[in-house]
Amino acid sequence: MTTLLLRAGLVFAGAGPELENGWVLARDGMIAEVGSGTPPLADEVLNLPNCVAVPGLVNAHDHMYQWATRGYVPDGGLFAWLRGLYPVWAQIDADTVRIAARAAMARLLLSGCTLSTDHHYVFPRESKGIFEALVETASELGLRFHPCRGSMSLGESKGGLPPDSVVEEEDAILAHTEEMIHTFHDAAEGSMCRVVVAPCSPFSVTPQLMRDSAQLARRHGVRLHTHLAETLDEERFCLERFGKRPLELMQELGWTGDDVWFAHGIHFNDAEVNQVAETRTGIAHCPSSNMRVGAGMCRVEDLVRAGARVGLGVDGAASNEDSNLAMELHQALLTARARAAMEGREDAATALGARDAWQLATAGGAACLGRDDCGTLAAGKCADVAFYRLDDLAHAGMDDPPAALALAPPARAEAVVVHGRIVVREGRLLTGDEDKITRDIAAESKRLRAGL
Ligand SMILES: [Zn+2]
Repeated sequence: MTTLLLRAGLVFAGAGPELENGWVLARDGMIAEVGSGTPPLADEVLNLPNCVAVPGLVNAHDHMYQWATRGYVPDGGLFAWLRGLYPVWAQIDADTVRIAARAAMARLLLSGCTLSTDHHYVFPRESKGIFEALVETASELGLRFHPCRGSMSLGESKGGLPPDSVVEEEDAILAHTEEMIHTFHDAAEGSMCRVVVAPCSPFSVTPQLMRDSAQLARRHGVRLHTHLAETLDEERFCLERFGKRPLELMQELGWTGDDVWFAHGIHFNDAEVNQVAETRTGIAHCPSSNMRVGAGMCRVEDLVRAGARVGLGVDGAASNEDSNLAMELHQALLTARARAAMEGREDAATALGARDAWQLATAGGAACLGRDDCGTLAAGKCADVAFYRLDDLAHAGMDDPPAALALAPPARAEAVVVHGRIVVREGRLLTGDEDKITRDIAAESKRLRAGL
């Protein structure tokens, strides 16, 4: 048994009181005790009185391979952006994905993220080992990981958006998804890897694959994830092709419930907001990406008020260009207020407080991912903790640390602990070589660009 004592100027646990001179005692990857004042003895101590300690941030939506294709189509809406990128993505293989995932995960860890999903849906023909590369990279860098076996089956020739060159046969998708669940899914408490079933979107797979995927996931007790209600283009596609709005379609296909979470969930009417909440379906809000592609602004406050689970996601780096979850927390706060102001609300400036934004970035994301053992700092939870400095130029002298960090999002965490293991210290990644990761992603991005 090994113990690690984490001390900070303030422990903002996300549950219970905020503790000045607080500490968290980790034992074998889990939190044994949280307190303040005189701490217990431990095998190892990380003492950061100039920092606030928070629950590790949770990334509820991402496409890590996109780190190799940042900066394409800087001004296009979702469908134009996708059409511009599909031919680039058609070139990826397991090496590309490994290099990109190292960059994405390093950036996430350095921003204080300790638990992330990844929605991988591009499996070009003859490419092997892509899903394995993602799982291995998370293990190498020490990130708690929920990889989604995504898929696309509705090519252009059948009326879908993606070119036929990047879609797969449905039987092969389902067989490979089941194989990945058998190989990598660990349902145990404190698990470092859980597999998710995740057809890409209503405009890139068939309704039959959606139905079959839901059945497969439920047979194995794993979660379901897809994109939904991201843009009005998608809404028009669903109305024209299926005669139904996106949520109505998903409800009919068995795709609502407490084992489902959607990325984006922007274009919901009042009845749909209530339906999402009543069915306990989760929403991963990705504010930077949504603004980048001009998709709109999620009704976060309405969803939370209705009782829905809402988390935050960075989304793929081809529509965000960074993977800093602390920045998404900041953007969530600002967009909620902009949205409230545009609705004519007099209380717009108090919409989504800093602590509410922290809740989305931690416990809210954990709820989307089905992790009741993550998202807060309390005895019995996973020992996943992020530390942010309060004495750097960006924050020195600011009152109220949780508000200060939400209003002035930190560029990187000072220290990060995942499952009781220190993976970032003094703002540097201990589990990977940041300089090499940077060189490799630059070279791979250049190679893909040259291949067009
Ligand atoms: Zn996405």
